[in-house]
Amino acid sequence: MDARALQKNLLELIRRTSAELPTDVVRAVEAGARKEKAGSNARYALEVIRDNIVMAKDKSQPLCQDTGTIICYAELPKWCDERTFRSAYEKAVVEATRVGYLRQNSVDSVTGANSGDNLGPGNPSFHFHQATGRALTVRMMLKGGGCENVSSQYSLPDTKLGAGRDLEGVRRVVLDSVLQAQGKGCGPGILGVCIGGDRGMGYVAAKETLFRELDDTNEDPRLAKLEKRIMKEGNSLGIGPMGFGGATTLLGVKFTHRNRVPASFFVSIAYMCWAFRRNGFVLSEGGRITRWLYDS
Ligand code: SF4
Repeated sequence: MDARALQKNLLELIRRTSAELPTDVVRAVEAGARKEKAGSNARYALEVIRDNIVMAKDKSQPLCQDTGTIICYAELPKWCDERTFRSAYEKAVVEATRVGYLRQNSVDSVTGANSGDNLGPGNPSFHFHQATGRALTVRMMLKGGGCENVSSQYSLPDTKLGAGRDLEGVRRVVLDSVLQAQGKGCGPGILGVCIGGDRGMGYVAAKETLFRELDDTNEDPRLAKLEKRIMKEGNSLGIGPMGFGGATTLLGVKFTHRNRVPASFFVSIAYMCWAFRRNGFVLSEGGRITRWLYDS
């Protein structure tokens, strides 16, 4: 395996992820703008967001000054071990920071010092899996701090919200999380929700479900129904883009679930801002990108 070629491909993945939104997200922003009244603040906000998306892509510059937490999922085939991949990805991150695809965004939580190159404990955040075939599949996401700050986790039952340990209880807490996030987190937002699991697993799974495309349908018909309902009800709250009011509060809702112990029932909500940066590719053993996972 050519580690330098891998590093070059990973640098291009980081550039695209930082500067280009996937087309499903762009379509959702445009559909939101069409829904809002002409001359309204909501319409204006979505048009500014759309112009920002076009400009960032044209200039190959970060979509937002906060280039976020770097999250990387890799399905490694036998020809690429974890150490080699990690080293190539970290070198690509350092280079991406040097040339400005990423902002210097990694801070030591004890000393407050910025590492300056986006490396440090937990940065980037790696998730490795064994590939079933010969190809290497990489997915990455950049998750901004503002939207991460309004991500939330509920423990059911929640008597204040009248939320019991069932799907109706889940619906209530998810809608509450949208209300709590209003005016923060750079909406319109996209929700990744995990029902169940322990606290840590719930948040990881909630973020993972954001790799789904916005216009797909959940394989579980009960969750598909809940996704549609929360989209509709969330968009009826009148919060709108950036909290300016309007009909576009959410661009997507994605649910997943994990088993839990009888004593716990967590609902974990990963809130993603409009700058929904995710991308990925499939790489052959010869070092060639055979497929991009999202159009952009
Ligand atoms: S929440 Fe998203 S859009 Fe807002 S500043 Fe952070 S990364 Fe940028």
